[in-house]
Amino acid sequence: MKDTCNNCGIIQILKIEVGRPASQSRNPKSQIGTRVGRGRFVNIKHMIRQIVLWGSEVLEHPSEPVTNITDAEIKLVQDMIETMYKAPGVGLAAPQVGVAKRIMVTDTTSGEKKDHLFTILNPEIVASEGEQFEEEGCLSIPGFSATVVRPKKLVLQGIDLKGKEITIEAKDLLARAFCHEMDHLDGKLFLDHISFIKRDMIKRRIKKLMRQGKWE
Ligand SMILES: [Zn+2]
Repeated sequence: MKDTCNNCGIIQILKIEVGRPASQSRNPKSQIGTRVGRGRFVNIKHMIRQIVLWGSEVLEHPSEPVTNITDAEIKLVQDMIETMYKAPGVGLAAPQVGVAKRIMVTDTTSGEKKDHLFTILNPEIVASEGEQFEEEGCLSIPGFSATVVRPKKLVLQGIDLKGKEITIEAKDLLARAFCHEMDHLDGKLFLDHISFIKRDMIKRRIKKLMRQGKWE
């Protein structure tokens, strides 16, 4: 597992308000640091984590549900958000930073618009309808993409970082992002949704990059 800081030079110390679910944060970038208990702020160093790539075992198995939200989960989410923005990407699942927990973050505006950051623990898709066909890539499979069919609309349920139940109705890109990150939590990748021929071609090209030492 690659679960290391690859950018130790960037360490920010900020604060966030308690009581505002991650999904309602006014500024995604503000979710760095936390308050524990009543009024006690702790400064938590956050970091950009290394994104694990195709071939890593952690991407191939279903992740475990979160049963307890501790400082470790809060730190993980903060790191995931920073890592997603830095990449940049519109979503990231915990297995992609080497942690087999059912946690995902998404921001389809890459931090440009307010209120678009979602942090969802133990997410489930409870309803979906329609279809959309769009090109899809993955931070764990850099340089490759394929057209993947996803629901046009869906309803996602889960809990936020405070343990509050949340329900989100999503369509278009956000629905796609939710499906993509849900897949990661189930040990799947977008490659599992494309034809055998296309998948095989991509895998062979990745293996060639591996042999050349260019896949890390
Ligand atoms: Zn992905």
